[in-house]
Amino acid sequence: MEILDFKHPSLRTKANLVINFDDNLKKEIFELEKFLRRRKDLKSVSAPVVGISKKIIIISKRMLKKKTKDLHILINPKITSTTFEIEAVEDTCELFPFIKEHIVRHKGIHLWYQDLNGEKHTIELKGVISRIVQHETDHLEGILLIDRIPENIRKKYTDQIRLYPEEVIRR
Ligand SMILES: [Zn+2]
Repeated sequence: MEILDFKHPSLRTKANLVINFDDNLKKEIFELEKFLRRRKDLKSVSAPVVGISKKIIIISKRMLKKKTKDLHILINPKITSTTFEIEAVEDTCELFPFIKEHIVRHKGIHLWYQDLNGEKHTIELKGVISRIVQHETDHLEGILLIDRIPENIRKKYTDQIRLYPEEVIRR
């Protein structure tokens, strides 16, 4: 399991909903967990960034507390509402190791998701977990960190993203 090159077109597609909660899914999740444990620099990973087009997010257990411990595996996660309040916090992405910028995100979110058995849950999140989920659900929709950077700041990175195919940049 490896992180795709940031120019890979599949990173720009919407990931598929998980429909079968079967052994194959458990195997993929096991591999994603193994990958995340190995990459200690990452707080979380979404399946599309390693080339699996499915709505799956794994959040590192070290980022989770008692209240949020069930958020280790998120299947078909959907942000159902957000706070009006926003905040700009530094964010990074495994696809763009050369980018470190403040990204504007909602302070709080309501999240709907399924667990490994297909059971449905909702939870209200704020703080770092809320930001992680907003980053990773972007990946499930084909939205990348560079899309969230204001254009005047994105210019700083022109050299590094020069080879990025035009048609792949959305905004
Ligand atoms: Zn990312």
